Amino acid sequence: MYENIKNHIRNVPDFPKKGILFKDITPALENAEIFAEIINALYELLKDKKIDKIASIDARGYLFGAPLAYKLGCGLVLVRKAGKLPAETLSETYDLEYGKAIIEVHKDAVNKGEKVLIVDDLLATGGTTKAACRLLQKLGADIVANVFLIELSDLGGRKVLEEFAPTISLLQY
Ligand code: AMP
Repeated sequence: MYENIKNHIRNVPDFPKKGILFKDITPALENAEIFAEIINALYELLKDKKIDKIASIDARGYLFGAPLAYKLGCGLVLVRKAGKLPAETLSETYDLEYGKAIIEVHKDAVNKGEKVLIVDDLLATGGTTKAACRLLQKLGADIVANVFLIELSDLGGRKVLEEFAPTISLLQY
C-alpha cells in the first residue's frame, strides 16, 4: 500500500550515527502531490474519531499534526523540546540511545477529559511518544490514538505504547 508515498521516503544509512537507517521524509514534503496524499490518507484514517485536540511532537511531528488539525477542525497542542515553551510547563525525561532528552507541554494546553491524538512523523522504539503520552495523561487528556506516518515495526514501539492507546501508522517497514 501507498507505494507512491514510500517511493518518496529516502533511506539514509548511518545517519545520525553508524547503524541507523534514517527515514528521510524531505522528498515527500517537497512534492506537492505526495504531501497532499499523505495528509489526505491520514485524514481518512482519523476522520471518524471524536477528537478535541492533536498533540504533536517537536519538530517533524508538526509537519503532519498541523495540517491534520486544520482538516479535522480540532486544536493543536505543541509538545516541545525543553526550554522552548514560554508559559508554565510540565516536563518528562526519557532515555535516548545515548543519554536523555526532555520534552515539555504547557500546563494549560489540555483540559481534563479532552480527547487527544498524538502525532509524530515516525515510531521507532516508542520512547519519545511514551513520554508525550505520560505528559498528556498528567494533564488529564484522554488519549485516543498515537498516529505516525512511518512505523518501524521491528523496533516494538507499538507494544510500548499499548498501555496508553492504539497505534495508527500509514507506512510500515
Ligand atoms: P523513538 O522514540 O525511538 O520512537 O524515536 C522516534 C523519534 O526519533 C521520532 O521523532 C523520529 O523523528 C526519530 N527517529 C527515530 N528513528 C528514526 C529513523 N530511523 N529515521 C528517522 N527518524 C527517526
